[in-house]
Amino acid sequence: MSSRSPERVFYLTTPIYYINGPPHLGHAYTTIVADAMARYRRLAGDDVRLLTGTDEHGDKIAQAAARGGEPPQALADRNAQAFRDEWDALGITHDDFIRTTEPRHARVVQDILQALFDKGEIYFGKYGGSYCFGCERFYTDKEIVDGKCPDHQTPLTYIEEENYFFRMSVYQEWLRGYLERHPDVVQPDRYRNELLGFLREPLQDLSISRPTSRLQWGIPLPFDDRFVTYVWFDALLNYVSALGGPGAEDFRRYWPHVHHLIGKDILKPHGIYWPCMLKAAGLLRDDEARAELPGFARLRVHGYWTLGGGKISKSVGNVVEALALTRKYGNDAFRYFVLREMPFGQDANFTEDALVERLNADLANDLGNLVSRATTLIAAHAAKAPAGRVLTRDPGLEGAFRKGRAAVDAAMAEFAFHRALAAIWELITVVNQYVDSQQPWALAKDPGQTDRLVTVLGSLAEALRCLGLLLLPFVPESAARIRAAVGDRTEATLAAADFGRPWRSPEDLTAVQRLTGLFPRVDRTADTPTAGTPAATGPAGTATPTGRISIDEFKRLDLRVAEVVAAEPVPKSKKLLKLTIRLGDESRTIVAGIAEHYPPDALVGRKVVVVANLEPATLMGVASNGMVLAGSAGDALALLALDRDLPSGAKVR
Ligand SMILES: [Zn+2]
Repeated sequence: MSSRSPERVFYLTTPIYYINGPPHLGHAYTTIVADAMARYRRLAGDDVRLLTGTDEHGDKIAQAAARGGEPPQALADRNAQAFRDEWDALGITHDDFIRTTEPRHARVVQDILQALFDKGEIYFGKYGGSYCFGCERFYTDKEIVDGKCPDHQTPLTYIEEENYFFRMSVYQEWLRGYLERHPDVVQPDRYRNELLGFLREPLQDLSISRPTSRLQWGIPLPFDDRFVTYVWFDALLNYVSALGGPGAEDFRRYWPHVHHLIGKDILKPHGIYWPCMLKAAGLLRDDEARAELPGFARLRVHGYWTLGGGKISKSVGNVVEALALTRKYGNDAFRYFVLREMPFGQDANFTEDALVERLNADLANDLGNLVSRATTLIAAHAAKAPAGRVLTRDPGLEGAFRKGRAAVDAAMAEFAFHRALAAIWELITVVNQYVDSQQPWALAKDPGQTDRLVTVLGSLAEALRCLGLLLLPFVPESAARIRAAVGDRTEATLAAADFGRPWRSPEDLTAVQRLTGLFPRVDRTADTPTAGTPAATGPAGTATPTGRISIDEFKRLDLRVAEVVAAEPVPKSKKLLKLTIRLGDESRTIVAGIAEHYPPDALVGRKVVVVANLEPATLMGVASNGMVLAGSAGDALALLALDRDLPSGAKVR
């Protein structure tokens, strides 16, 4: 194993998520994007720190806790845990998770507030205005629509109160120049233009406190404990407090390299308030030449997911349901879909149908088939090649991979995840075409073509090894399976995806293991899952009379006796059981829609009849490989059984 010396440092943050509801598609998208980028940069050898966390103060949390008759901290603990659990389930590789109710955060917030107060950047003043209790903020006359909150469409309340204010208005001209001098600070470019648009209007000073008479659930101002810190001076500073605050070692190391990933809904606080706050606190660098100063707060801004879009009849109803599809289709399929479907920075539409379409076409068909056919060919023919032969690689594929790798790097430098994946899928297409054109199965039949066969098999193994590395940031679980199948146990690095590994001999290739069903196809033509459920509810067993079939058509069905060795319910499904069956020497998983008719325990040890050659399918996230036969009439259902014993694997005809 080689030791890597990090060339670059990379600090990436997600927004901290407000814990007034469960994690949903919006949170998950930002976090998945951040995770893919962090994995990519780690693979490139960078010293990466990925931060996420939760925003836990404010009226909404205090009120919800009061309604539930519990302390706000108890509510915050529970809801923050839901985010932690969700990121664990999604396999997110964050290095730190910060909560705004942690002492390490409050300390840094108070230190910075005190420093700004001492410098005269914060003053005490009176403010009257139209306030929305739902948004916990004042609205300016320009923002108010028909006298109502533009977000809630509810009437606003005029309130007047004394508060502390941050002198943001003095930074207006500086900020305009800053954004103009550093075009890279906000990407994509349209969001920088949007910020410059905001700055054509006079910038107001920012209210940074709320009186404790109205709100106690917040961080007390260090210079006046009759007030707590208001939203942004609490929330935004998490990016600094998580590093230990100014002066801390982690801060010195990571802060100059910070990138904030955000959705466009929080562009204004991140693009206007935040740089002004940092500038006032001396934490923002504004000069390329003076590298010792703290970093630019670079923003990488993504668009919204819309749901359903009225495009296709079947769609998920809300953002929480949308996220639940990770359980149904798996993390990798979900990750792939959101990364591939949304051009970073723009809006995109989320439907279950579109997800399944990409799963079937890109993952099952393009990638899954390639892995299956290539590993099958290598496993079948590697041993036939003469020992001691040095493998050569096909230069055509080598060139394609060099180009593809460069395209991935260029796309990732711009956070263009969709383009990075498109470049990898171009490679997958090239390799699939290579299999078609080289026809290794034909070469294997001709003893005069052994050299050529070995070159083709070696090139395929090398292509899969490189794809296994390139895919790691995007579909990590499947990429690891591909790496394992080709026997790649070396440390994963992007540099190794160079199509240059010396596959020394055919013996090397015999380590390659067949890998099929990486992404089983999903059938959503019917409302409920079909393939793999008993004949009684599946397409082959519909009661509609069909035309007669020939004996040859019948013989295409591979019906077998199987023994049930284990049975368990499929989580969140009323109907489905996950059966482990023995079929001769083979063990398989079959999902059967019989949970309402048989308790799992009653099935273990029983012999049943299965269709053994049915295409695999995934039902509620479980891969099913075959179908158990059952008869049904009305509500009654009965499994087919043998009236005397036969060994498992016996043919049924
Ligand atoms: Zn509102």
